[in-house]
Amino acid sequence: MSTTVFSQLDKSLHEHLATLVRLSATADDDTAVELARSELPRVVTALKALLDEHTPDEHGRCPTCRTRRFSRRLPSPCRAYLGAQLALTVSAESPGLHRHVRSAV
Ligand SMILES: [Zn+2]
Repeated sequence: MSTTVFSQLDKSLHEHLATLVRLSATADDDTAVELARSELPRVVTALKALLDEHTPDEHGRCPTCRTRRFSRRLPSPCRAYLGAQLALTVSAESPGLHRHVRSAV
């Protein structure tokens, strides 16, 4: 039963995120501003809560990702942390890159 409840939660979470992505791309400016003001802080809060579980030490290891599989090897970077960092950095840098390209032409 708990699996059913969880899969329902998981489904609604993914639907919520898909709706945010769709609206941010297609909604008019007023709606997009409202969406950013109301939903962005919540998304940031959710991301921070996840990253709290993945706080890497100075070697990039985190308690959540540290498994027996890696214990014999060199420190392995936290994949959750790297994934979030990469996704945020790439999406944040893209507009600046376009601006730079445009102004250079
Ligand atoms: Zn981790």
